[in-house]
Amino acid sequence: MDLRYSDADEAFRKEVRAWLDDAVPAYGPPPPPDHWVERRAYDTGWQRQLHDAGFAGLNWPEEYGGRGLPATQQLVFLEEYAASGAPYVGINFVGNAHAGPTLIAEGTEEQRRFHLPRILKGESVWCQGFSEPEAGSDLASLKTRAVRDGDDYVVHGQKIWSTRAHVADYGELLVRTDADAPKHQGITWLIVDMHQPGIEVRPMKTLDGESHFCEVFFDGARVPVHNRVGEENDGWRVTNVTLRFERGTAFAQHIITLRSQLRRTVALAATTGTADDPGFQRQVGRLEARIDALWRMTQRCVTEAEASGLPSPLGSAVKLGYSEAGQELTRLGMSLLGRRAIGNDGSESEEARVLHDYLWSFQYTIAAGTSQIQRNLIAERILGMPKGR
Ligand SMILES: Cc1cc2nc3c(=O)[nH]c(=O)nc-3n(C[C@H](O)[C@H](O)[C@H](O)COP(=O)(O)OP(=O)(O)OC[C@H]3O[C@@H](n4cnc5c(N)ncnc54)[C@H](O)[C@@H]3O)c2cc1C
Repeated sequence: MDLRYSDADEAFRKEVRAWLDDAVPAYGPPPPPDHWVERRAYDTGWQRQLHDAGFAGLNWPEEYGGRGLPATQQLVFLEEYAASGAPYVGINFVGNAHAGPTLIAEGTEEQRRFHLPRILKGESVWCQGFSEPEAGSDLASLKTRAVRDGDDYVVHGQKIWSTRAHVADYGELLVRTDADAPKHQGITWLIVDMHQPGIEVRPMKTLDGESHFCEVFFDGARVPVHNRVGEENDGWRVTNVTLRFERGTAFAQHIITLRSQLRRTVALAATTGTADDPGFQRQVGRLEARIDALWRMTQRCVTEAEASGLPSPLGSAVKLGYSEAGQELTRLGMSLLGRRAIGNDGSESEEARVLHDYLWSFQYTIAAGTSQIQRNLIAERILGMPKGR
């Protein structure tokens, strides 16, 4: 594998930078965090601009609206994107990062032609309905059931932690279609239309005062059989494809964003008289090196995914490293501010941002599989150690 950028990649970098230089300041700042209708409009509007400028679905096939570009140019794009301070992918995360890629890998031609262009144009928003109150780390013990009724599945049950389900149009839904089969063999992966009777979405308040997550209740919701991805009862295999994308390549943008977050922390230290403190400098140096190493591993994951069509299990190591470095970075920000962070003077201040990033960072080691689960996966799938009991 050659991770050096070619002349063509560098030419692409100039093209990306020139576009971002104009487009980012012109688009303006995001609406307040809990204004979900405005946030949806802001995030999908930005996605549309990316699409119209030719910067959406960079590595997706051209026949579905992507650009079909090599992995190196996807990486160049992410580097420039993070450096420009462009809007966070936000509401478009699930569609772009793992629902779309799952459909490319496992969907039918009809599913790809319908959904992929809509995701890239910001016309449809996706959420993920995997976790349940009693099925998180042990996802295969999920109980939401779907029963065939003619050309539909009829769904009953409950999901939880479904991020931004209150503004989603479609969901990646895991259901049990054979209650008698061993738990991994009775699961099916469905595309559910979130705008229908029989689905109730209830947002939940979190530690930072916002409502990112929802409980989703299914009481007779219908999913046409042609919205099934993969075969009936083969959903665990498809789920692993989704999770490989979620853990392997979806975090690339977040990792590169850690670099700008570290720079902001160094700038903050200059205002608190800590910048020359040797202990602080050592911590910054260590974090810089870890972020660099994580970016190299991400480059490897993205290029491997291009070669094989699927990210490798190395993604678990990237996800683990990113989560822990991210938490250390936000703790460093809090230690610089001390009590100032708690007595901050409003949501626009630097103090409020540091506090918010710190509170938000608690989820890093839980979302997309906890750190303990990533360690289990690293042991079993990368190091080849025997399966735990
Ligand atoms: C920000 C965020 C966004 C999320 N978004 C979504 C979403 O959109 N859709 C969705 O479906 N879910 C989502 N989730 C849910 C997430 O996938 C689960 O929270 C996660 O998988 C853990 O499951 P749990 O919360 O049920 O914890 P549990 O599985 O109950 O785990 C509790 C503790 O036990 C440990 N543990 C459990 N099993 C083992 C084991 N075998 N070995 C070692 N330790 C173990 C865990 O590491 C953890 O510390 C989100 C979560 C967060 C925090």
